[in-house]
Amino acid sequence: MYYQSTRDSNLQVTSAVAIAQGISADGGLFIPSEIPQISMDELKALANKSYAERANMVFGKFLTDFTPEEIAYCTSNAYSTKNFDTEQIAELTGAFDHAQILELWHGPTCAFKDMALQILPYLLTTSLKKNGEDKKVVILVATSGDTGKAALEGFKDVPGTEIMVFYPDQGVSSMQKRQMATQEGSNVTVCALEGNFDDCQNGVKKIFTDQTVKNKLADAGKMFSSANSINWGRLAPQIVYYVSAYVEMAKRGDIQFGDVINVVVPTGNFGNILAAYYAKNMGVPIGKLICASNINKVLTDFIDTGVYDRNRDFYATCSPSMDILISSNLERLLYILTDGDDVQIREWFGKLSTEGRYEVSDAVKEKLQRDFVAGFCDDADTKKTIHDFKEKFDYTCDTHTAVAVKVYQDYVAKTGDTTRTLIASTASPYKFSASVLEAIENQNFDANTDEYAQVAHLAEISGLPIPQSLAELQGKAVRFSEVIRKDDMESYVLHQLGIAES
Ligand SMILES: *Cc1c(COP(=O)(O)O)cnc(C)c1O
Repeated sequence: MYYQSTRDSNLQVTSAVAIAQGISADGGLFIPSEIPQISMDELKALANKSYAERANMVFGKFLTDFTPEEIAYCTSNAYSTKNFDTEQIAELTGAFDHAQILELWHGPTCAFKDMALQILPYLLTTSLKKNGEDKKVVILVATSGDTGKAALEGFKDVPGTEIMVFYPDQGVSSMQKRQMATQEGSNVTVCALEGNFDDCQNGVKKIFTDQTVKNKLADAGKMFSSANSINWGRLAPQIVYYVSAYVEMAKRGDIQFGDVINVVVPTGNFGNILAAYYAKNMGVPIGKLICASNINKVLTDFIDTGVYDRNRDFYATCSPSMDILISSNLERLLYILTDGDDVQIREWFGKLSTEGRYEVSDAVKEKLQRDFVAGFCDDADTKKTIHDFKEKFDYTCDTHTAVAVKVYQDYVAKTGDTTRTLIASTASPYKFSASVLEAIENQNFDANTDEYAQVAHLAEISGLPIPQSLAELQGKAVRFSEVIRKDDMESYVLHQLGIAES
């Protein structure tokens, strides 16, 4: 197996090169040349294996240039109770009517990004070694709130790496900001941007693909890579938990091996749901992939109409990690749905950057709608869902997960489809304490209380233990408070790296 670029099918690189580079020089995303298959027997054989062992099997199919020892080194270091507060790594709940929740937030930063970002540093440093690369790697990250912290935790003090994170100044929760601003480590930089997540992501992508900047970096013995889900090293680990969850459901008797399940994913950059699509196409019996958006519903409209149009108002919502109008990973899906038509992809994504809009053919739309269903939910419904779900099932979910729950409930009401369903839960409610409390307590919620008073109060009503990593932040000093304009990103990066501007 080799990796192509979505904008150049003739490109052939190993997974180690794809992971080390992060993004292809032509601006496209690396994508495996085929989707490897997984048989029912292979799935059954995973039943009594640990999460790390399940990961070994999945990675073995995608990272074919890695040795089994290299893969095991990465998975055993990442997926242990050193880093996660549950043996299961991804914790599956019991049933709420016909749905079960897959809690993907038991890692060090309490969001699902840890599932991939705990292992990415191992995959990346192993890749560099395999490639004989001796340059220092500079990881540039654009974050809507959760990737930044998860990447910082993954890469802090990793030899041979430096990491710089950009987040939208007004676009993250106060806990998310606190997590990043207090980050420790000698190789980390955090900077806020006047703008939204798309501005951060565009800025980072531009710097990545700017040849002049790249040359300057190379002269200084450095190279860029990415910890965003444009990096295949982020995507592959996310496939693992869908495979693992299916096996777990069958092992527990929630389903039989071979039964079809639906999957609901609260979606922003389309990485998480694309991983579920890969799991399905590898052979995991998944029926519908239900794409849940907040009011920034560019994906709902795209899946319903085949028109992708980012020319619309941008809203800051109570599910900020999904406040995105340009979903990068859709490019990978469209590459697959057009059977690798790189010319077509270049045309569509060229239009996206010049006109902010493109429309796919009826044939592609039809394929899209065969697998995907989409829905969205505004802040009022998000909060009502948190409230009602807590009341009915005594389960407290965060704002992003609530968007998925609501879209799922709407889907069931509309279709009557009671197929057993897996809902991806992407963050701990403690990351969004104020919104979650407001949802549960309505007018009794006092927004003026201190953040840690809110955390303590949420612990009382939810019965959930307060994650150690969030509790510890309370006394930590703020290390990073700089806010820059989006036009200044490039000079900021060069300056931080000690590279003179010309
Ligand atoms: C990143 C994130 C999402 C969106 O995931 P994508 O892979 O970008 O679609 C949803 N919820 C939370 C809490 C997140 O951090």
